[in-house]
Amino acid sequence: MGNDIRYQKEELKYVVADSLCKRLVRSVEEKYPREACGIILGKLLENNTIVITNYVSVENSDSEFDQDRHYTINPLKLYSYENTFAKDGNEIIGFYHSHPDAIAYLSEEDKKYMIPEQLYLILEVQAGITLHRNVWKKSIEDDSISRVNIKVKGE
Ligand SMILES: [Zn+2]
Repeated sequence: MGNDIRYQKEELKYVVADSLCKRLVRSVEEKYPREACGIILGKLLENNTIVITNYVSVENSDSEFDQDRHYTINPLKLYSYENTFAKDGNEIIGFYHSHPDAIAYLSEEDKKYMIPEQLYLILEVQAGITLHRNVWKKSIEDDSISRVNIKVKGE
């Protein structure tokens, strides 16, 4: 374990560059009205701060019919992404997906599959435009789910 992000005791702070944030939003909007999904990569810095370093858009492996309501990331793909991107101190720190024409809150199904201490970013995309985004995290201690604040930094 040691420096593993998932086992940090102190409360973590998250930062992301504005430009990266905008790129992600654009890629999600391009998928509309389909549901977009992907992986969030990050790196642990000093002071219990995690900087979001990149995202990887992942093919939604659910059937065509279902893509406006569900997302599934193939576990084998996930494993290969971990090997490809989880270097130079980068780790998979969470997942994102869009809710086309629905609010940026966790569905019951979203909650069911949450991995503790991973970030879950949900983007509300109404008529192709991202109106809201929320980030959620489930506690490893008691399974409680709370919102996470991510500081967006200009460059
Ligand atoms: Zn969802």
